[in-house]
Amino acid sequence: MFRENAFIISWSSHGRYVLDSRSDLLRELSVLGDFQPGSISSVHRRCGKPNCHCAQPNGPGHGPLRRLTQKIAGRAPTQTLASPSAVRTAEKEIAEFRRFQTLVQQLIEVNHKICRLLTVAAKAMPVKKNGRCIPARNQSRTSATAGAYLPPTAK
Ligand SMILES: [Zn+2]
Repeated sequence: MFRENAFIISWSSHGRYVLDSRSDLLRELSVLGDFQPGSISSVHRRCGKPNCHCAQPNGPGHGPLRRLTQKIAGRAPTQTLASPSAVRTAEKEIAEFRRFQTLVQQLIEVNHKICRLLTVAAKAMPVKKNGRCIPARNQSRTSATAGAYLPPTAK
C-alpha cells in the first residue's frame, strides 16, 4: 500500500518531500530508546524522631527524595528513585517518551498530508488498459479522466 501511494504522489517534489518525511519519522521511531511516561518530583520528609534535625520547626527535613509519578490506567503509582543513576535513567526514559509522542503527532500530520495528496492525485489519475484506475481513495469513474499526471496544488 505504501509503495502504490509512493508511486502516485512521488512525481511532485512536494509529494516526494512528504513521503521522505514519513520515512524519516518511521526510522526515528524505530531507534527510540526505552521510554515511559511520568514526572519526577522532589520531596523532603520528616522521619518522626523527636531529636532529629528534621523535627525543628523550620528545618528542611530529609531529602530531597526523588520520586517518579506516573498516571497509568487512571491510577498514579509513585516510585521512589533511590539513587542518582535511577533518577538519570528515569529522566532519560521520560524524555524518550516525549520524543515518542512528538514523533507520533508528526506521523499523524504527515499521513494526513499524504491522504490529501492522494485525493488530489485521484482526480488526475489516468485510466489503465483494463479500464480500472490505479487504486486511490475517493476514486470515482467520472473523475478518472485519461490525462497526464498533474502535479497537486495542495500545500
Ligand atoms: Zn529526621
